[in-house]
Amino acid sequence: MNSRKTFALIDLSAYKQNLLYLSRKAFPAKLMAVVKADAYGHGAVELSKAARDIGIERLAVAFLEEGIKIREGGVNLPILVLNYVDRHEIPIARKFGLTLTLCSFGQLEEIVDLEVPLPDFHIVVDTGMRRLGMEWEDSLRLYESAVSKGIRITGAYTHFATADEKESEFVSEQKDSFDRFLAGLGEIPFGSFESHISNSAGTIFLDNSRYDYVRAGIATYGLQPSIIVDNNLMPVLEWKTCISYLKKIHAGYSVSYGRT
Ligand SMILES: *Cc1c(COP(=O)(O)O)cnc(C)c1O
Repeated sequence: MNSRKTFALIDLSAYKQNLLYLSRKAFPAKLMAVVKADAYGHGAVELSKAARDIGIERLAVAFLEEGIKIREGGVNLPILVLNYVDRHEIPIARKFGLTLTLCSFGQLEEIVDLEVPLPDFHIVVDTGMRRLGMEWEDSLRLYESAVSKGIRITGAYTHFATADEKESEFVSEQKDSFDRFLAGLGEIPFGSFESHISNSAGTIFLDNSRYDYVRAGIATYGLQPSIIVDNNLMPVLEWKTCISYLKKIHAGYSVSYGRT
């Protein structure tokens, strides 16, 4: 029942067009669709299916249960969980075929002695966001340590702090640090290793050609990631409602609680 008669109308074809536009921008890097927080409120299962149907190959979410919901909704694409996941939840991640993020030596210690099959991990490298992850030198040591313990590290990524600013020097510094990390990896022990870097703003404004993927969220929903407007983005969400009552009041009258 929806007696309130207010709802969000989601335009899946606009979402697909945004994905295709951003994929062209990222090329030859590919686009990982960020569908965390229920696809920024748009409905993660439906949008993940729409992304899959036009050939998007990777999804990213923030939390384990978001990934599980998409799996249970019938989407089989690789899904990366961007946040830290507790060691007790590792078996569930593995069961649902989710890829997790490795961010510290402490986390590595927590998982190495688990006597269960482990999921794949991507290492997050802190190049300036100063949230998850360690600086590139320590991340390299973490990579080597994890691999030597038999953990499958199948990718690495970093996150930009200022990709929405024009010609940001900080972005170049972040890129340099990430490139140093990648250059230090040496021979990759697993068949494929994926590097990924830009968010929406970086997908639109930067050259991502040296990396395998970009991770775009906000722009895929047709919202501007920067004050520099990109007219190619199509709005995906529209609010609809029914007007139940209109009234005229005198100029200067107050309205509602506290007369505010
Ligand atoms: C949310 C998020 C993104 C997507 O950012 P947008 O600005 O919405 O494109 C990319 N990478 C990480 C690590 C994120 O947490």
